[in-house]
Amino acid sequence: MFLQWAVPGAAFEPTRYGNSPRDDDIMNNAPVATVAQRGIPPRLRIGVSACLLGEEVRYDGTHKRYGFLVEALGAHCDFVPVCPEVEVGMGTPREPIRLVGDPAAPRLVAPASGIDHTRPMRRFARARVRALACEQLDAFVLKKGSPSCGLFRVRVWPEDQAELGGGGRGGGGTGVRGGIAEGGEAGARAGRGPARAGSRAVRTGRGMFAAALVDGMPLLPVEDEERLDDLAVRASFLARLVGYRRWKDFRAGRPRARALARFHANQRLLLLSHSPGIHRDLDGLVAEASAGNRPMRELLPVYGARYMAALAVSVARRNHATALRRLAVLCKSALDAGDRADLAARIEDFRLGRLPLAAPLILLRHHFRRHPHADATGQTYLDPHPAQLMLGPLL
Ligand code: SF4
Repeated sequence: MFLQWAVPGAAFEPTRYGNSPRDDDIMNNAPVATVAQRGIPPRLRIGVSACLLGEEVRYDGTHKRYGFLVEALGAHCDFVPVCPEVEVGMGTPREPIRLVGDPAAPRLVAPASGIDHTRPMRRFARARVRALACEQLDAFVLKKGSPSCGLFRVRVWPEDQAELGGGGRGGGGTGVRGGIAEGGEAGARAGRGPARAGSRAVRTGRGMFAAALVDGMPLLPVEDEERLDDLAVRASFLARLVGYRRWKDFRAGRPRARALARFHANQRLLLLSHSPGIHRDLDGLVAEASAGNRPMRELLPVYGARYMAALAVSVARRNHATALRRLAVLCKSALDAGDRADLAARIEDFRLGRLPLAAPLILLRHHFRRHPHADATGQTYLDPHPAQLMLGPLL
């Protein structure tokens, strides 16, 4: 439905997606062009392993549709689907593949035929990531466990299990269900017997495309679908997704020191809730910029990396409660006793887990609309993206 597949066997053509930016731009996550320049609507844009969208692109012609992604995130985001194995020309259906050898630099092989896909996949992955840098992505959701797309704990098999005819008869590495690798299910149908749960594979690898993505776009928020089922991980992902878009839009304006100071001031409560320590570091960077001690082209990538690192820190409920109380103090004098008590009660109910964050936040927004305060105006903490309010857990 979304994909324009490469012809099996044909070389990937990055220019199909536009001109690739320079490597150093990708590494620094420099904006390729502003959203307005590229005419991209202000919806969030998420790269996705295509099988998670329901595309029947897996080795056995099935999909792994992920409902939260398609239905919930899909209401707020546009998707850029990628299936590395199909796009590199393996076709569907295809032989299962697996990572083998050195977990730090594994090869990608098809164990039944012994075909080594390492070089074509590495070449493809680098080119595809360069092309994706032109897609203004705000995040990426990858398929867990895949030797191409898996982000964490992907199986890497010993060299003597690189071929089914050799020392090992385990399954492929495309994923695991109930202790049997998906490739093992395919192997069982082919009469080779199921993968053994007690095989010597180590779960320390990263899929080959996923590795190129993380290397090439180091600030891009990336998660796999299984981890997104964890509500704390989901909240962190949503914060990084929205924060990354905010940072890219800011950088696209080629900001100077004064603009950075304003941006930083607007993130104050957000950053304090995530990580007071990193907020202090960022204070120092902004002071350096204001004093003209360091060129902005050098300072901005450092600020961006630290900013994204802060957003990656999960926010404890008590830290939210502290931020909410700080805001309550700002509007205290403008409220009557009843409104003050009501606000305090909602913050306390949130702290005790009886109300979602949205309840005191929406009340505070209402009060600041009627009684603006300079220290609250522009605070991004008070203005979460609808996706965060509607899809975040009750934190
Ligand atoms: S996990 Fe990645 S390579 Fe495998 S089918 Fe899904 S999108 Fe394609």
